[in-house]
Amino acid sequence: MVLSPEQNAGGIRLAARLNDGELLASAQRSFPVSYRQARGEFLAMLPQARSFVLPDLRGPDGEELSVDGGWVGDPQAECVLVLISGTHGPEGFCGAGIQMDWLALLEEGRLPQDVALLFIHGLNPYGFAWDRRVTHEGCDLNRNFIDFTIGAPANPGYEELRVHFVPPTLDGPSFEAARQAIRQFKSLHGERAFQIARKAGQYTDPNGMFFGGFGPSWSAGALDAIAREHGLATRKFVAVIDVHTGLGPYGYGELQSEHVAASKSQAIADRMFGPSVTSADLGTSASIPIHGSLQLYWERLLGDGRYLYLCLEYGTFDTEAAQRVLLADQWLHVHGGGDRTGAFGREVRARMRAHFCPDDPFWKEAVLFRGRQVLRDALSGLQQIGEGRFALSQVPVLATGRLPISPRARRLSRIAHKGDSQCQNE
Ligand SMILES: [Zn+2]
Repeated sequence: MVLSPEQNAGGIRLAARLNDGELLASAQRSFPVSYRQARGEFLAMLPQARSFVLPDLRGPDGEELSVDGGWVGDPQAECVLVLISGTHGPEGFCGAGIQMDWLALLEEGRLPQDVALLFIHGLNPYGFAWDRRVTHEGCDLNRNFIDFTIGAPANPGYEELRVHFVPPTLDGPSFEAARQAIRQFKSLHGERAFQIARKAGQYTDPNGMFFGGFGPSWSAGALDAIAREHGLATRKFVAVIDVHTGLGPYGYGELQSEHVAASKSQAIADRMFGPSVTSADLGTSASIPIHGSLQLYWERLLGDGRYLYLCLEYGTFDTEAAQRVLLADQWLHVHGGGDRTGAFGREVRARMRAHFCPDDPFWKEAVLFRGRQVLRDALSGLQQIGEGRFALSQVPVLATGRLPISPRARRLSRIAHKGDSQCQNE
């Protein structure tokens, strides 16, 4: 089709509109380039935020490392939306970007009555600053919330492969031997069993990947301190969105529920966000159920039906790419001396950041677009809960404490539980 000069001019105007949109401008503005910048801008927006400073450790520029909690809205609000960034270190570049975007939006408008927001910035500040998924304890924070008083779950597949997950070299005979052992494990037990062995979480090997810790991490204590300081346990309802990256289609933000499928909180999530909520328990998510996720913390604090915990998980690159970059990171820590300031250390850091927060305007724009959808639906849902229009009491619960679910959901649930019920969450 040949456009007339008039049509062409219209096309040019349209292109200008699409390119110069406010969302794209925010995408260019909101994402930080360092932990230091991210924290500085966060504290500039929320100067009253409370800081929980990590003792003894510093960031690459000598900066303080801290979990910061900032409140927006009525201190007495009955309903609270919590937005967490940096649970997995460099995934915080994305989470902090969303936090800055939301904060800028909130400056322009009023919150619904009885709804407030709590922003938790850099929950794993060491990992955020140094581009490590794990905390300074080597702990995967999203595996750390098991009840350590009753003992940690076993992961026999991990134990079988543990020496092969992080071989002594990144190439050559020992690397090839490790790859061969992994191929053999997969052919014997299948891909799913391998993913469980690798990513379900393990509680025995602090030098291994997906280590859930020997006890509550420092960040778990900081999270608890922030929640208690703001009296979250006594609020009417708390919705928690924890931003993650690295799993799923490029740029799409999947709202992954960690709730048991037959729970009141799951029903509320479905009602609040619609069919875009996926369930690890039902097998509809890119993730499958995991041990020790943050969801367990909120469950203990508030109880089923008084909270939601959803991971807003943005896809980046494929799982092969994730495995390569995470192996390089862990190898550096276990066999490579752990120096993250030398040439190889800097290369690993750059690769981690590029994997977990691609420096791509398209990706960032998609992230913020989806983030705003989630903000809108969360505020609307919380407003209805605050006004008593959400009818929580009418969410049906069976006498057993379990919700009736559809035959299809029940069948999916059985399939999901047929094998091991652990995880493949990044
Ligand atoms: Zn994550």
